[in-house]
Amino acid sequence: MNRFPAFIDLNARKTVIIGGGAAALGKARLVIAAGAEPLVIWPQIEAATRNELTESARLIETAPVRADLAGAALVFVAVDDAATAERWAEAARAAGALVNVVDRPELCDFTTPSIIDRGRLTVAVSSDGAAPVLVKKLRADIEALLPANAGALAEFAGRYRSAVKAKLDEARRRGFWEAFFNGPIAALVLQGDERAAHEAMLEVINRPQAEQEGVVHIVGAGPGDPDLLTIKALRLLQNADVILYDRLVSDEILSLARRDAERLYVGKAKAAHAVAQADIEKTMIALAREGKNVVRLKGGDPFVFGRGGEELDAMRAAGIAVFVTPGITAAIGCAAAAGMALTHRDHAQAVTFVTGHAKGDAEPDLDWAALAALKNTLVVYMGVTTAEKISSQLIAHGRGPETPVAIIENGARANQKIIKGALSDIGALIEAGDITGPALLVIGEVAALADGETLLGLAAEQRRVA
Ligand code: SAH
Repeated sequence: MNRFPAFIDLNARKTVIIGGGAAALGKARLVIAAGAEPLVIWPQIEAATRNELTESARLIETAPVRADLAGAALVFVAVDDAATAERWAEAARAAGALVNVVDRPELCDFTTPSIIDRGRLTVAVSSDGAAPVLVKKLRADIEALLPANAGALAEFAGRYRSAVKAKLDEARRRGFWEAFFNGPIAALVLQGDERAAHEAMLEVINRPQAEQEGVVHIVGAGPGDPDLLTIKALRLLQNADVILYDRLVSDEILSLARRDAERLYVGKAKAAHAVAQADIEKTMIALAREGKNVVRLKGGDPFVFGRGGEELDAMRAAGIAVFVTPGITAAIGCAAAAGMALTHRDHAQAVTFVTGHAKGDAEPDLDWAALAALKNTLVVYMGVTTAEKISSQLIAHGRGPETPVAIIENGARANQKIIKGALSDIGALIEAGDITGPALLVIGEVAALADGETLLGLAAEQRRVA
C-alpha cells in the first residue's frame, strides 16, 4: 500500500479547483457527489463546465490569487501548462491544503480512486496509477457483485445500529449483524420492500437471541458452466453457511462457494436412491431453524423438473423464510451451446418442455397428439431411457419418422456431445452415442440446426458432433 485510503467529509470544508476545462469539471463532479460546494477558479472557464456547475459550485472567472487558497482542505490543480500546475501545487501546499494535480502523480499529496457510489456504501479502488485499466475492470467486477440496493441496505442497517448496540452485548451483536446481512430482512431490503423490512426488523430486535432464525434460498445453478450462473446465485453461494446440492451441480460451481461453507450432497446416483425428498426438506428446515443461511442448489432452473416447487411449499408450510433464484434451464443452455434456436421462426411456433421419466417399464404419460403437432419443438428432459417409446408414440400420432432429432449430452459443459439423426432412429442413435451423462432429446425441425459451433465459447476440441 503506497497511499493511505481515507474517506473525507467535505461538507463543511473548503475545496478549491484551479482550472476551467474538462479535467476541472471531472474533479468538480467527484467532490460535488460527496457533498462539497467547490470553488472553481480560472480566467477562462469553458462553457460546458460553467453550464453544469452554475448551481453546484462557486465559479470565479479570473486568474487565481494565493488568497483564494486560504483555509482550503483540498485543492485540485487541473491546468494544462506544466509550470503553472507546479506553481499552484506549491502555493496550495504552502496554504496547508492537500493537493491533487491532474495527471501528475509525482505532484499529488492524494489521488482519487475509481469509485462505486451507492449512497452510504462506497467502494474505492486504486492501483496508485500503476494499472488504470485493471482498476477499471476490477471496479466493473465489484459493481456486478454488489446488489443494486446495496446502498439502501447500508442505510437501513445504519438506522438500527444504535438500537442493536443498546440491546445486545458485543459478542452477540456480531452474530446478529452476520445473520442480518445473510438473512431474510436484508433480502427484503435488497428487493426494495423496506416497509416489510422495517416491520420484520422491529420484531426481530425485540425477540430473544435464542430465537433468531435462518433463511433458505432455492437457487438454480444452470447447466454446469460456472459462467452461466446468475450474479445473484454467485453472491448467495458466497454467503451460504450450508449448501445442499444435487448430482447435476458441477464441481466448478461448488468451488465458488465460501471456503468454510458446509456442503451436503443430496443427489441421486443414477439407479441408487440417495436422500429421499422428504428428508431433504426436513434437513433444510432444521438447518434454517438453527439460524443457518441455507442454499439449496439445483441444476438448471429449480422450477423446471426440479422439485423446487415442492421445496418452496415445504418451507412455507414450516414458516421458514424462503427465496427463489432462477437458473438457466438445460433446454435453454443446450440450445445456446448447440446454436439451435428453439423457436426459430422458419421451423417452429412453439416449444414444449416435457419429462420422459416413467416408473419402471411404463410409458411416460403424455398428451401425444398435442406433442406430435407440426412446428412444435419438443424438448424431453430425463428421456434417454424412454426415448424409443416416446419416438414410437409420436410417430403413431402423426409426427414424420424423418423428423430431425438432436440428443445433447452434458450440454453447455466442456464435454458436451451432440448426436443428430431421424426420430425413427432415436434408440440406435443413443446406443451408438454411448450416452451416460445428463442428456436432452430435442425433437422437431430445429434439431437439424444443432451443431458444435457453440456460441458459449467452448474450445473446438471440446465439441464433438457425431
Ligand atoms: N432443473 C433442471 C432439470 C432437472 S431434471 C433444469 O432446469 O435443467 C434432470 C434432467 O435435465 C437430466 O436428466 C437431463 O435430461 C437434463 N439436463 C440437465 N442438465 C443437462 C445438461 N447439462 N445437458 C443436457 N441435459 C441436461
